[in-house]
Amino acid sequence: MRDEGGWRKKHNLTECATGRIAESAEEVDMLLNLLCKNFTHPKLFRICGSADFWCLYKKYLILIHVFSIIQGHVNRIQLYHFMKDTNMQRRRSRTKYCMGELIEREDFSEDLAAFKFKTDEQLPFIPGQYATIGFEVDEKIVQRPYSIVSSPHEPFMEVFVELVPEGATTPLFWELKLGDKVFIRDRLVGKFVMDTESGMTRHVMAGTVTGAAPYISIARTQKIEQEQGQSSPHKILCIVGASRSWELGYYMDELNELAAQEEWFDFVPTVSRPWEDTEWQGEAGRAEDVIRKYGDEIGYDHTNAVVYACGHPQMIENAKAIWARARFPEEHIKEEKFFVIKE
Ligand SMILES: Cc1cc2nc3c(=O)[nH]c(=O)nc-3n(C[C@H](O)[C@H](O)[C@H](O)COP(=O)(O)OP(=O)(O)OC[C@H]3O[C@@H](n4cnc5c(N)ncnc54)[C@H](O)[C@@H]3O)c2cc1C
Repeated sequence: MRDEGGWRKKHNLTECATGRIAESAEEVDMLLNLLCKNFTHPKLFRICGSADFWCLYKKYLILIHVFSIIQGHVNRIQLYHFMKDTNMQRRRSRTKYCMGELIEREDFSEDLAAFKFKTDEQLPFIPGQYATIGFEVDEKIVQRPYSIVSSPHEPFMEVFVELVPEGATTPLFWELKLGDKVFIRDRLVGKFVMDTESGMTRHVMAGTVTGAAPYISIARTQKIEQEQGQSSPHKILCIVGASRSWELGYYMDELNELAAQEEWFDFVPTVSRPWEDTEWQGEAGRAEDVIRKYGDEIGYDHTNAVVYACGHPQMIENAKAIWARARFPEEHIKEEKFFVIKE
């Protein structure tokens, strides 16, 4: 079977470079060979062996075009479009990755697990930001964003992932064994970080299951920095909803312990299917059902607090509406939707 995409690319290239429209794949190849023979310079091939071949190949193609212009085959507009295309590809190929080696994995349920990676370089980030994690599939990298659970002060990168069985990426997470490697984009980014600019020192952070990830990073970081002698005026009320309590795995204990130790941290886990978790004695309901109750109870309101919602898009919409009715201004309501619901 002929590679349609590759053929078309070559076809466009030769057409552009020679001004001739090839009638067949064979003719395209013939024209390309002709171009290469005509414009190959021995120096170019000497460099080719040593450096990034793809980058040089692009330069080589540009050279072919320059020669073609000289010969009057290609006009400037064609060259402009070709260069633009080449530049875009070069920009795309500038995406850099580092490798993350799986050093720990804990499955909380069939479809929820925490993964810890040792990265081959230290990547700076602000708690609340996300990493773009990728897997190689058919010579391409399939990648998705994942909020970072760990603190920038910790020597590993931890993520909390929910399996989407029909998804492109998460089933590949589930295949990972200790020692396996993933691609991690070297820029950790995102705006869903603690607001320290507004002057508000109270923070109500609501999340659904894996949506707790950025809050854990923020809380871990504040604790570590406190242990290092730094002080912070910021207080956090963290409300995390799950269908059943075990879905939060070891984060349940971690956040409960933190709440017991630190006066600046309150934690309310809530379970939306208590009938499937009959031993659960804590709060029942969805995260948005209880945000107003606990916020009001400890006095975190629109006069002193910024509010955050992360994870399931429906929870985020519901929580935003509740906070709007509680007089929180739009600029004090932050959100991070993990996916969109298909109609
Ligand atoms: C900023 C940001 C941070 C994120 N952080 C996390 C995180 O910490 N942990 C985490 O597990 N995910 C997180 N996500 C979601 C993650 O990026 C992927 O979308 C998700 O893991 C599914 O990837 P996939 O390739 O397996 O599925 P895809 O092939 O991308 O999706 C298949 C289908 O499933 C839907 N879908 C995606 N996720 C879910 C879901 N959770 N429940 C139901 N349907 C879904 C998609 O809308 C799509 O229709 C985050 C997303 C964003 C934008």
